[in-house]
Amino acid sequence: MAGAAGRLDTRHIHIVALFVQKYGGTSVGSTERIKNVARRIAKFRAAGHQVVVVVSAMSGETNRLIALAREFQAIPHPRELDVMVSTGEQVSVALLSMALIDRGAKAKSYTGAQVRILTDNAYTKARILRIDEERLRTDLKEGCVVVVAGFQGVDENGNITTLGRGGSDTTAVALAAALGADECQIYTDVDGVYTTDPRIVPEAHRLSTVTFEEMLEMASLGSKVLQIRSVEFAGKYKVKLRVLSSFEEEGQGTLITFEEDKDMERAIISGIAFNRDEAKITVLGVPDRPGIAYQILGPVADANIDVDMIIQNVGHDGMTDFSFTINRNEFERTMDILKNQVQPHIGARGVVGGNRIAKVSIVGVGMRSHVGIASKMFRTLAEEGINIQMISTSEIKISVVVDEKYMELAVRVLHKVFELDQPS
Ligand code: ASP
Ligand code: MG
Repeated sequence: MAGAAGRLDTRHIHIVALFVQKYGGTSVGSTERIKNVARRIAKFRAAGHQVVVVVSAMSGETNRLIALAREFQAIPHPRELDVMVSTGEQVSVALLSMALIDRGAKAKSYTGAQVRILTDNAYTKARILRIDEERLRTDLKEGCVVVVAGFQGVDENGNITTLGRGGSDTTAVALAAALGADECQIYTDVDGVYTTDPRIVPEAHRLSTVTFEEMLEMASLGSKVLQIRSVEFAGKYKVKLRVLSSFEEEGQGTLITFEEDKDMERAIISGIAFNRDEAKITVLGVPDRPGIAYQILGPVADANIDVDMIIQNVGHDGMTDFSFTINRNEFERTMDILKNQVQPHIGARGVVGGNRIAKVSIVGVGMRSHVGIASKMFRTLAEEGINIQMISTSEIKISVVVDEKYMELAVRVLHKVFELDQPS
C-alpha cells in the first residue's frame, strides 16, 4: 500500500494503471543506480501496474561515443553516427532488463528498431512518425516490464536514426501516446521543474504544476529539464506528463497540466529562464527598402543557422540598422556570411557583433490577465543598472538580451520581484 504508485494517485490505489517511465542518463549512470531503478520499477509491478520503461544511455556515454566518432571524421557521417550513438541506449536497456530479471520480474528489452519506432530519415534529428505498439501490448498482458531504448528509431528503409540530444524524453512521450498510458513519468536528477535554476537562485522552488504552454516556452528558452519536442508531443496528444526525481522515494514532482491552476495564491510569473549560448549581430546602415530582411537573413537560413530574436529599427534618411541573435557557436560562421556575402551585396555600412550576451526571460500564463508585467521587469533591471539590448515578447513570456556578466544578477532580482523566492 505504501508503494510508490499509490502515492501518485491515492484515490485510485486499487486501479491498475499503465505507466511509461523514463530514466535519464544520471539515473542509470552506474550498476548500483541501474539496480536502484529496477527496485523502483518492481514496486510499481508489485502494486499491479503495467510499466513500460524508456532509458537513456549511461551518463557521459553519448558524449564519449560522439568524441570517438570525431577521431575519425571531424563531422561524422550522419548515418554512421546514428548507428554508433544508438548503442549507448542499447546497453542500458539490456542491463536494466537483466537487473529486473535478477529480481524475479519478467522483463524484455527492445531497441527502437525492434519495436519499430518508425521515423523520417533525418539522421541525428529524426522525427517519430509511427509506433508499432502491438508487440508491447502483448508483453504487458503477459506481465512483462517492457524496456525500450530511448533516443532512437528506424526509417522506412531500415536505417537506424536518432532523435536529437535529449531525445529519450520524446521516445517516452510518444510511447505513452501510442499506448494510451495513464501517465508518462520522466525520472531525472532533479525532483521537478523549478522556478529557475537553484544553482543560481538558492531560493528557487519546485512548481507542483506548470502548464504545457509554459513548459514549452521554458524548454525553448533554455531550461534543460525536458527536450522541447517531447513537450510538443505531449501537448499534441494530451499526454499526462510528470517530472520527478529518481533518487527520492517520496515526492509528487511537477505535473504538466493543460489548464491554468486557478489557485489565487499562485504567482503571476511561473518561472525565469535564461540562456548563455547567445550571440548578437547588427548590420549597420542598411538601405530601408522592401526585401532587405530577406537579403540579410536568406543567406543565414541557407547556411542552416537558426535566428532567434530580430529587430529592425525605424529608418532615418532611407537607412536603418538590423539586429538579430543566433546561437553562440554559430557566431563566427554568421559574421563571415554577413561580412563577405551580405554587406557588399546590399551596400550596408558595417557589421558588428558580440558573443558575450545572454537572454533572460520571464514566463507565465498569468501575464495574459495582468497588466504592467513588462514595465515591472524593465524597472527592476533599470534599478540594478542592467542595460537591455533587445526585447521580444509572446503572449506568455518576455525576453530580454543583456550583457552576459549581468545575467545571474538579472535572474536573481527578477525571481525576487515576481515573488518566486521560496517563503523561508
Ligand atoms: N543519450 C542521449 C543524449 O545524451 C539521449 C537522451 O539522453 O535523452 O542526448
Ligand atoms: Mg535529458
